[in-house]
Amino acid sequence: MLDLYRSDKVFQKYDNLSAQSLFIKLGISNRLINEFLRPILLVGLFKPPEEVSAAVTMELLYYYALAHQDSFDVRWINSKSIAEQLFEPLSRRLISRHHLRVLGGTFVTRLNVSSETQRLSSVEIQSVQTKEVNVIDDVDAVVLAVGAKGLKSLMSQSPECSKAAPELVAAASLGSIDVVSTRLWLDRYVLIAYPANVFSRFESLKGAGGTFFMLDQLQKESERALWGHEQPQGSVIASDFYNASAIAEMNDQEIIDRLMHDLLPIAHPEFRNAKVVDYEVRRYPGSVSHFSPGSFSKRPPLETSVETIVCAGDWVRMGDKEHGAKGLCQERAYVCGLEAGNSLIRRKIVKGSNQSKTIQHSVVPIRADEPQVVLGRVLNKIVMDQIDAFGLTLPWLDS
Ligand SMILES: Cc1cc2nc3c(=O)[nH]c(=O)nc-3n(C[C@H](O)[C@H](O)[C@H](O)COP(=O)(O)OP(=O)(O)OC[C@H]3O[C@@H](n4cnc5c(N)ncnc54)[C@H](O)[C@@H]3O)c2cc1C
Repeated sequence: MLDLYRSDKVFQKYDNLSAQSLFIKLGISNRLINEFLRPILLVGLFKPPEEVSAAVTMELLYYYALAHQDSFDVRWINSKSIAEQLFEPLSRRLISRHHLRVLGGTFVTRLNVSSETQRLSSVEIQSVQTKEVNVIDDVDAVVLAVGAKGLKSLMSQSPECSKAAPELVAAASLGSIDVVSTRLWLDRYVLIAYPANVFSRFESLKGAGGTFFMLDQLQKESERALWGHEQPQGSVIASDFYNASAIAEMNDQEIIDRLMHDLLPIAHPEFRNAKVVDYEVRRYPGSVSHFSPGSFSKRPPLETSVETIVCAGDWVRMGDKEHGAKGLCQERAYVCGLEAGNSLIRRKIVKGSNQSKTIQHSVVPIRADEPQVVLGRVLNKIVMDQIDAFGLTLPWLDS
């Protein structure tokens, strides 16, 4: 981890390796890999170590665990969801104060870039419900806040844009991950020691990673809201499966049965006696960024070759605006959105809210690296640069 940011070339080498091959080359025991690292990667990057970049793995372990040891455990919002508590008020404020217009249930289908000027001229949109297509003309700029799946379909419909910004075509070629999300309402309370849990190494997961959260324990004060403001009857559980292509193929009842009969009783046998009063199963195919080995150079940059198109999202490379929040992470996606907007303001492509000035939105950095990390990086660089100078390669970096 101390070696990761020594230079862009070194970072690229670690990105080309899978986490699994780095673990093996470093002599990490199978037990540590299978009992700790594999489950943590399945719920942290939603893929097993063979399928994730060693560089992003180290970023994740550093950001989530080592750099924030006193806040490593799951924090759950006290009531409602992040979308309701944070994003809805933000969206309301942007609408009322800054005239934001949100076109719900609408997909962007095409970005029209003029082949002569290489400038973005208009954006085509389509309503999911009515299938009606509309064109937004006179577009100053576009922030592409879509994942690989969305970008793939957008690029396939936008030939001029693809030609003008080949880096977006490269990003669109990257993979994405299927997720299944469930919620169960039970007829009784099952009290377990820890409200936030990771499923690990169970046959029934079919290669997926999984988590389950006892919402009745985590959101005690607003328990009635979990039951739609009716009388609560028992535990409410949120359980998500990642890398879940095989689980997604099962029908809803099979997924619920698997949870109630195979998985949850391992945590507490009382789950076997509980009845499911209600449930919800949602599938999100290709919805999550896949940080595969070698994917870094293909991930979309913050600023693209078309100066009026910028990118935002957890998979975006932010260059010199890079932030400390790493991996699949809402904070990273949010900060990247701010930086995408800032870039447009800085380059005078759009004006800030104060029309006469170009005020950019401030970004709060993560806490500073601890002194031993800073010192470790400096010492590592001195030693490793010498090793490089003699033309030697580190045993875990030779391919
Ligand atoms: C089950 C689960 C649990 C998670 N838990 C956590 C957590 O506890 N903490 C955390 O920080 N992160 C968590 N994450 C990760 C977090 O959700 C992501 O990192 C974050 O949502 C990434 O944001 P984004 O804006 O990059 O992409 P997304 O949130 O994927 O947004 C992309 C959006 O683009 C839309 N779109 C695609 N194509 C088009 C188009 N053509 N036109 C218009 N819109 C389009 C999609 O519908 C989507 O809404 C979790 C993710 C999942 C799936």
